Amino acid sequence: MKKTYFTVGPSQIYRTVEDHTKQALQNDIFSLNHRSKEFQDLYQSVDSGLKKLLQIPESHSIYFLSSGTEAMERVIQNGVERVSGHIVSGSFGKRFFETARELGKDPVQLTFHEKSSQISTMEFSKDTELIAITQNDTSTGYHIPMEHVYQLAKKYPQKLIALDTVSSIPYIDIDYKKVDYVFFSIQKGFGLPAGLGVLVVSPRAIQKAKQLHSCGISIGSYHSIMQLQEFYEKFQTPETPNVFGIYVLNSIVTDYLKSGITTVRTMTDKKAHTMYTFFDTHPAFRPVIEDPVYRSKTTIVVEAIDGSSKLVHALEQRGFIVGSGYGERKGQDIRIANFPAHTLKDVKKLLSVIKEIS
Ligand SMILES: *Cc1c(COP(=O)(O)O)cnc(C)c1O
Repeated sequence: MKKTYFTVGPSQIYRTVEDHTKQALQNDIFSLNHRSKEFQDLYQSVDSGLKKLLQIPESHSIYFLSSGTEAMERVIQNGVERVSGHIVSGSFGKRFFETARELGKDPVQLTFHEKSSQISTMEFSKDTELIAITQNDTSTGYHIPMEHVYQLAKKYPQKLIALDTVSSIPYIDIDYKKVDYVFFSIQKGFGLPAGLGVLVVSPRAIQKAKQLHSCGISIGSYHSIMQLQEFYEKFQTPETPNVFGIYVLNSIVTDYLKSGITTVRTMTDKKAHTMYTFFDTHPAFRPVIEDPVYRSKTTIVVEAIDGSSKLVHALEQRGFIVGSGYGERKGQDIRIANFPAHTLKDVKKLLSVIKEIS
């Protein structure tokens, strides 16, 4: 039976991935030397494609890492001497905070909940160098509106702002001039296999890394921002990277550019609206986040009133793979991804099956 993956990552692969993979084999991408001109052209092509698709300014640099989790470590190491502030709305925000602790920093965490006031009213100490925000926490389904992020950034112009957008890119529309680090990995909104992280940094973030380095503070080794930047300037990477991941990312970015980012985003809105309307009006379900302002459009978390285990299993039998709740909420919630790889038709089919068996 053909399965449709509504899991939040890895997820359904985008419909063109099979063709792109064949093309990669035909073009000997698996043997491509990462110091070759072809590789530099490929890097340059993804760089300009991503900048066009996501409206990233020319002033910003785009680096390749191994994962979203790695990006958290890179951000802390290169952006914080001592104190980072973390807005935590779920397990990924918590992971970011723990990373800072494990690296020997003095992080502070502030918990965000829909009943608390918005993040721009949060207070950070004078010595907080960087504020880390999980823009879309995949564990809880919390979405932090970008307007609230900008207000916070405006209130603290001296502090660096880092955004985890792993499960909301390319849906989320960001003014990159107002933030310093944005990172994501490719197995979520780009519908690709896992194993490649992308970090976008501002000139200010590069300055901070240089400053820490000049004070004798460790900013890492081959993946320090200084090293990454040095290689980026010639469209290379310090190590042998995931060339296949970079190749298919380039192909998918080209596909998304052809559809147009507006179409990608309005389709996401439409599918999210269809799902929330269904779950809001079905007596057996309750979306975990009540306030629509904070509801994620890309990772939808819904409580199944009578428990979710049987439902998850029954859906699997019918070829629909959805996520269970995260951590302690495993048997209580279902999590459904709404990425560009998921068509409106897939979503309607999923909902009709849920209706039939609930
Ligand atoms: C999946 C995810 C991560 C981790 O990304 P990896 O590429 O698996 O390391 C981090 N943050 C959020 C919000 C995620 O959804």
